[in-house]
Amino acid sequence: MAKYRYLIIGGGMTGDAAAHGIRKHDATGSIGLVGAELHAPYNRPPLSKGLWKGDAEDSIWRKSGDTGVEHHLGRHAVRLDPGARRVTDDQGGVYEYETLLLATGGTPRKLPGAPDGLIYFRTLDDYRRSRQLADRKARFVVIGGGFIGSEVAAALRMQECAVTMIVPQDGLGARVFPADLSRYLVDYYRQEGVTMLMGESVVRVEAAGGGYRVHTKGSGVIAADAVVAGLGIELNVELARQAGLTVPDGIAVDEYLRTSQPSIYAAGDVASFPNPALRKRIRVEHEDNANTMGDVAGQNMAGAGLPYRHLPFFYSDLFKLGYEAVGEVDARHETVADWREPMKEGVVYYLEAGRVRGVLLWNTWDQVDAARALIATPGPFRAADLKGRLPAPK
Ligand SMILES: Cc1cc2nc3c(=O)[nH]c(=O)nc-3n(C[C@H](O)[C@H](O)[C@H](O)COP(=O)(O)OP(=O)(O)OC[C@H]3O[C@@H](n4cnc5c(N)ncnc54)[C@H](O)[C@@H]3O)c2cc1C
Repeated sequence: MAKYRYLIIGGGMTGDAAAHGIRKHDATGSIGLVGAELHAPYNRPPLSKGLWKGDAEDSIWRKSGDTGVEHHLGRHAVRLDPGARRVTDDQGGVYEYETLLLATGGTPRKLPGAPDGLIYFRTLDDYRRSRQLADRKARFVVIGGGFIGSEVAAALRMQECAVTMIVPQDGLGARVFPADLSRYLVDYYRQEGVTMLMGESVVRVEAAGGGYRVHTKGSGVIAADAVVAGLGIELNVELARQAGLTVPDGIAVDEYLRTSQPSIYAAGDVASFPNPALRKRIRVEHEDNANTMGDVAGQNMAGAGLPYRHLPFFYSDLFKLGYEAVGEVDARHETVADWREPMKEGVVYYLEAGRVRGVLLWNTWDQVDAARALIATPGPFRAADLKGRLPAPK
């Protein structure tokens, strides 16, 4: 049996950030990390961006060795006994802890009834498989027009692969972008050579001759060498549920990132936390949150007592377009667009009852803090108040 002052479940970016956070206050306390993947912690965003633009694969590794953490990799924690402060993994390994962090993130949602071999793009291994196929100039079908589908389709097309996207909505990123921008992106992807099947859905996928036949509702059957699906994630909350923690949408934590059991913390994609700027509980599946919340959780495990008040931002690259965004960037809100050049450069504000809830900075840089300040301002704002508001003068 291994005994740790600090035990972290999950070897993603959040788990690694927490180990570094712990070391800001405790130089020597033992840290153990149980991670289901065989790899030490690495950055996920480059898997769909930088690694396709020439960055070396080695550049993704995080400096987890610096913390002296002991990794137990390729192991899935399957039982948590908060009374005994004990975790058991799927190979019979037992770990005792004084303070525990759940940083278990999410697992890609699967396409029901699909054969083996589809790429549900989340891990380094998924990147490596896609890369091998792309190097052979495989024909890809990409299912889903959210963050992962859009980024991976662009990355594959930039390798000159034939790419067909199948997207149930009429636009790309339809849950996030205003309708005109979302539809513009469809034309933009077509110009870049991606075949776009919009308002389309997959009926069934069958394995055929070393590749796949993708049956669609309205566009017939598409032959592909590889299928990538970006259908969102299911949260890894089984351990938390089994231990009796409060799990509404994600594992509920307070502002110090403690769960309903004071010796257990949670952070990253899996955690639902109160956010003062938005005045509600939120859950965020983005890098800035994984890094910042993981760091604060680690510091608090070591006794820092810091409230987590950060409003995380996120970003993406789509061919030559790029953006940063902060707050509730949700297409269901009223939107006010302030374009410097339509669909190419500008700012979109997302409003609810006159308050700015989110800001999309489209090819507009260094404005995340100014956007955060706007979200924190009570308003009310009218469209005319927002025109020309950002970029803020430096
Ligand atoms: C391809 C890709 C590109 C992205 N690009 C961007 C981007 O451009 N911008 C942005 O803001 N965000 C981006 N994201 C999102 C960002 O990477 C995630 O928000 C972040 O990785 C979440 O980190 P996490 O550690 O909380 O969870 P995860 O990354 O899900 O890590 C959790 C880890 O815990 C392990 N685990 C789960 N359950 C157990 C268990 N019971 N026992 C042991 N181990 C377990 C999992 O195997 C996994 O390794 C991207 C994500 C992906 C996949």
